[in-house]
Amino acid sequence: MTTVKTYQNWALHNDAQNIAWLTIDCPDRSMNALASDVMEELADIIGSLEAAPPKALIIRSGKRNGFIAGADVKEFQNVENVDNGRKLIERGWHLFNRIEKLAFPTLALMHGPCLGGGLELALACRYRIAIDSPKPVIGLPEVKLGIFPAWGGLMRLPRLIGPQTALNMMLTGRTLDGRKARSAGLVDLLVAPRVAEKSAIDLVTSGKPARQARGLAGLLNRAPFKSLVAAQARKSVKQKDPYGHYPATLTMLDLWEKHDGDPLADPQALTRLLQSDVTRNLIRVFHLQERLKAFGKKDNATPVNHVHVIGAGVMGGGIAAWCALQGIKTTLQDTDAQRIAGAFKNAVSIYARKDRYTAQAARDRLIPDLAGHGIATADLVIEAISENPQAKQSLYQQIEPKMKEGAILATNTSSLSIAQLRSVLVHPERFVGIHFFNPVSRMPLVEVVHADGIAQETLDTAAAFVGKIGKLPLPVQDTPGFLVNAVLAPYMLQAMRCIDEGMDPEVIDTAMLEFGMPMGPITLADTVGLDIAMAAGKQLSEGQEPPRCLQEKIAQGKLGVKSGEGFYVWKDRKHDQRSSKAIPQGLAQRLIKPLIEQTEKQLANNIVQDADLADAGVIFGTGFAPFTGGPIHYKQSKGGL
Ligand code: NAD
Repeated sequence: MTTVKTYQNWALHNDAQNIAWLTIDCPDRSMNALASDVMEELADIIGSLEAAPPKALIIRSGKRNGFIAGADVKEFQNVENVDNGRKLIERGWHLFNRIEKLAFPTLALMHGPCLGGGLELALACRYRIAIDSPKPVIGLPEVKLGIFPAWGGLMRLPRLIGPQTALNMMLTGRTLDGRKARSAGLVDLLVAPRVAEKSAIDLVTSGKPARQARGLAGLLNRAPFKSLVAAQARKSVKQKDPYGHYPATLTMLDLWEKHDGDPLADPQALTRLLQSDVTRNLIRVFHLQERLKAFGKKDNATPVNHVHVIGAGVMGGGIAAWCALQGIKTTLQDTDAQRIAGAFKNAVSIYARKDRYTAQAARDRLIPDLAGHGIATADLVIEAISENPQAKQSLYQQIEPKMKEGAILATNTSSLSIAQLRSVLVHPERFVGIHFFNPVSRMPLVEVVHADGIAQETLDTAAAFVGKIGKLPLPVQDTPGFLVNAVLAPYMLQAMRCIDEGMDPEVIDTAMLEFGMPMGPITLADTVGLDIAMAAGKQLSEGQEPPRCLQEKIAQGKLGVKSGEGFYVWKDRKHDQRSSKAIPQGLAQRLIKPLIEQTEKQLANNIVQDADLADAGVIFGTGFAPFTGGPIHYKQSKGGL
């Protein structure tokens, strides 16, 4: 191979057959991103290839962990200045159109994440090959930032795989793994790493026509069917987002239907989107998420390769199933063999949603351990037994002498003091709270709870473990309710006080759905369990009398979902929480006020480090309407409550 020229972010070589190999490897970044300088260099390279065309071009990544994660989201912070926003869009749109029009065949050879702008670059190539690698994620998740794929993705993906699958991916931000991408037609081939280069050469020199949606899928891209597809998609957007909190979806549909995905064809729509609070807040939430992820990347943390979970109930079973799925050897202990069997059954039903190799590997890593042999070899032991301090402490006294030198003991307690629980330990500095939420497989946040005197290494190891299993760690101080439960309790109690005043549960829930919460507070209370809501409320409400309706329900044995009835009657764990009745004016504000005030209180008491982390915790721990930017940000942006 001969090197033509080197760039900061790209390397271009021509091989003996005059095939140009263009490798992206952004220095000082763990993952490639199409930042301005990277795009400028790419434009320069494309210019040189236009001037001296090679036989073919293959674009690949020099990073082991993936192809390209997308554009540089830091640069999106300036998009509210419409000129900046338009320039950013124009640059990618025009450059990728040039790549599509190159006179020689082009191919993207992708491994690992290929997202957003990275996939739009691949879509501009004539061919795409996905290398069968761990964690391949292929998609256009721009909608999660309140924007849409504006570098040609909105035009090219429907043409390639048909509008129904393409719009579904772009409207939800859903990603595909290599196999699904292959069967959708998004990639031409899925190949093993050892044959990747040869396959790329064979395909790029094959002379095969570029793939495009055929048959019905192809027909749906054209009038008059296109309008029908758009109408259908609008209907489903309105069902999922009935209050129109996420305007990028409808803008995206309009641009696809009327302008074939050209982002520059409707400058007003673009301006509206770029200047909207929603877009700004969703970009903010992305950065908050990155901040949480950074807590999970600790250089001095001890790697956790084996976790031992004690207690195979709702939480312990869920934690063990998740850890095994995320690649960690997991032993699961309980005094009751039936509970271990139940936990395995639940784990298998979670794994069933994965491909069979992933499912089989997860099953192999999850090991039943009635006798607790795993205690002696685990790097981390997580206790998730019943919420009884004496039982927990007596367990700690039994297991601490058996644990491996330097291993860490964690509790999943929701309400007990970490400082008190650890008082029986010889090494209290190696004890930490790792507080998961229910259901473990769906809730992204995990609170990492520390009390004074904890070893920094313990805290770092716990946070790194949480990061390793793909969750977002939030460091919080040891205090009743930590952050998330502490802010939810007064919110649910306020909702119940409205019931005491005679309001319907559905009216209350609907008010908060309209506000943008994923679930109404009364449905949430039924889901958590009314006995638990009562206990949490007592712990956190400083002696206030619990709502009358809550006391009555509990006296009647109506505890919510788990007993089949609470404020609602639950059939197959479902009920309708929406009401068509008029919502009293100001109800949502009244309901949300105690949640926001409690968040401020936890912040003032240093339970979390700063306001951004408080917002992040409440968004990822409770689902608090992300497009508001979080409770504290919301209050500030409204100038008060
Ligand atoms: P659970 O009652 O479903 O499960 C507890 C399990 O622990 C049972 O299977 C029991 O047999 C087992 N167990 C009890 N003593 C044991 C011992 N000495 N050794 C081994 N196994 C023992 O309880 P859960 O809801 O999973 O809660 C577990 C912990 O997680 C509690 O501390 C709770 O506060 C916390 N938590 C619960 C939730 C939730 O929503 N349920 C959420 C977050 C945290």
